Amino acid sequence: MHVGSGMEHDNTATLDDPGLVPPPAELERSRPTTAPAGQGRASPRTRVRLVRTFTFEAAHRLPNAPVGHRCRRLHGHSFHVELVCEGEVDPRTGWLVDYADIKSAFEPCLERLDHHYLNEVVGLENPTSELLARWIWESVKPKLPMLAQVNVAETCNARCEFRG
Ligand SMILES: [Zn+2]
Repeated sequence: MHVGSGMEHDNTATLDDPGLVPPPAELERSRPTTAPAGQGRASPRTRVRLVRTFTFEAAHRLPNAPVGHRCRRLHGHSFHVELVCEGEVDPRTGWLVDYADIKSAFEPCLERLDHHYLNEVVGLENPTSELLARWIWESVKPKLPMLAQVNVAETCNARCEFRG
């Protein structure tokens, strides 16, 4: 369902995460060669993956890390979360899902995570990236059936990918 003004689906939503949205040329190339050209309509067999990126700040500690491990100490991260949706482009709308719908599905999670001590969040008593990705999946998947993957990164050079 297309919620709101649809502004989320235009390029203004991607200014802070360039490269995540396939340009129109990508959709064009993925069409079967037998599809009629023009009209801006995508073939119903056009499969895509959409990625919506979120960030939040939070503190955590990993109580089950080995004694002496630095992650046992209280510390914080600027977490990056990617919600990946996969499926076939709706031939009428020309999109898989409104980016605004992905944002709406994640917002309750974001409120529980952003600027919180993750160990205090129910279900995140041991908030590793792996368990956080699963927690997000379980929260978002019922509201976003085409969700295919959740990525969680604590730092810019390490991340966890969870596919349900
Ligand atoms: Zn950490």
